Amino acid sequence: MLYDYLVVGAGLFGSVFAHEAMARGKRCLVVEKRDHIGGNIYTEERDGIQIHRYGAHIFHTSDKEVWDYVQRFAHFNSFINSPMANYKGTFYNMPFNMNTFNRMWGVTRPDEAASIIEEQRKEVTGPIDNLEKQAISLVGRDIFERLVKGYTEKQWGRSCDELPPEIIRRLPVRYTYDNNYFNDPFQGIPEEGYTAIISKLLEGADVVLSTDFNKDRASWSSKAAKVLYTGALDEYFDHCLGRHAYRSVRFEDERIESTNWQGVAVVNYTDRETPYTRVIEHRHFAHTTSPVTWISREYPVDYSITGEPYYPINDEEGKRLHEAYLELAGKEDKLIIGGRLAQYAYFDMDKTVRAALDLSRKELG
Ligand SMILES: Cc1cc2nc3c(=O)[nH]c(=O)nc-3n(C[C@H](O)[C@H](O)[C@H](O)COP(=O)(O)OP(=O)(O)OC[C@H]3O[C@@H](n4cnc5c(N)ncnc54)[C@H](O)[C@@H]3O)c2cc1C
Repeated sequence: MLYDYLVVGAGLFGSVFAHEAMARGKRCLVVEKRDHIGGNIYTEERDGIQIHRYGAHIFHTSDKEVWDYVQRFAHFNSFINSPMANYKGTFYNMPFNMNTFNRMWGVTRPDEAASIIEEQRKEVTGPIDNLEKQAISLVGRDIFERLVKGYTEKQWGRSCDELPPEIIRRLPVRYTYDNNYFNDPFQGIPEEGYTAIISKLLEGADVVLSTDFNKDRASWSSKAAKVLYTGALDEYFDHCLGRHAYRSVRFEDERIESTNWQGVAVVNYTDRETPYTRVIEHRHFAHTTSPVTWISREYPVDYSITGEPYYPINDEEGKRLHEAYLELAGKEDKLIIGGRLAQYAYFDMDKTVRAALDLSRKELG
C-alpha cells in the first residue's frame, strides 16, 4: 500500500485533514475532480486582484483555535464585511441596523425604529405557515418588501408565500449604527488569496487534478489504507437511492476599466426584477494597486444548469435521502466521510476547519 490516506477532494476539508495526517507522518494522495485545488474557496489572480471564483468568501469565526490555525497559513487583513442593499436604486446598509432604519423611515433613535418594527410585526396573526409570514413577524412589512422578498424569491426560485417558514429562522435586527455584517470577534481575508492557504496545507501530498474518483473507485481506493471522501454521497453510490437536490449559482465576470466601480465589495440587489442577487467587486477584499477592476454578478439558478451543487435543499425528503446514504456509507470499510458535500449541508469555512480538525484528532490521535 503506497499511501496511508487517499483524500478525495482538494477543498478546505480534505486539505486540512491531509495536512494534519502528514504532520503525524502519514502519506497522502489527493485526487481532485476540478483542474485546480481549493474547492469552492479557490481564488485566482487576474490583473493583480484575487478573484473569488465560486462566490465571495469572507472568513469569520468566534472559534479562537480555528482562527489561530488559519493564521499559520496566511496573513489575514482586517476586512470587515459591510454589504449594501440596492432596492430599485436606493441603497440601504446591511445587516438591518440604525443606518438602514434611518434611510427607510427617517428615524434617528433606536426606540423610534423599534416601535415601527413592533407595530408592523402585529400584521401577522394566526399560524406562520410560509416564509412571508415568518419574515413579516420578525421584521415587519417594510423591511420584508424592500430587503428580503425579492432577494429570497430569486435565491430559491419560488415566491415567499410558497416557501417554508423554516428557511428564515432569524433576521437579526440591530439597534445601533453598526454595519459589520458578522457578530464574530475574528474576521478577515487572506491577502494572498485562499488558494495559497490550500497550497501550503497540501505541501508534501501527491495531488492529482482533473480526476473524478468515482469513475474508477476501486483502482484509486486500492492505493491507500483508508479513504477520506469529501464529495457527494449520492455520486459515491451512483445515485442508487436517488439524486440529491441543490440550488446553484451562475457567476458572470466582467473586467471594467475603473479603480472603484461600486465602492464596496458586496452589493445585494433586493428587487425581484434584477435577475442577479449580488454583485461582488473583488478588489475591495484586499489591497491592490491594479488599474482595473473585476466584478462578478451572481445569478441563482437550478442545479441542472451549472451542475455545481451549492446549497442543499434540506427539506424532509432531502434529509431522508441523506440519512439513507449515510447508512450505506457506514457499511463501507476503510471509508471516512467529511466536508459539506458528503454531509449534504452548508458549512462556513470556520466550521469546515473545525470539523476537519476534530476528525483528524479522532482518526489520527
Ligand atoms: C456561494 C458561496 C459563498 C460562500 N461564502 C462563504 C463565506 O463568505 N464565508 C465562509 O466562511 N464560508 C462561505 N462559504 C462556504 C465555503 O465555501 C465552505 O465552507 C467550504 O468550501 C467547504 O469546503 P469543503 O472542502 O467541505 O467543500 P468543497 O470546497 O466543495 O471541496 C470539495 C472538493 O471535492 C471535489 N470533489 C467532489 N467530488 C469529487 C470526486 N468524485 N472526485 C474528485 N474530487 C471530487 C470538488 O471538486 C471540490 O474541490 C460559501 C459557500 C458558497 C457556495
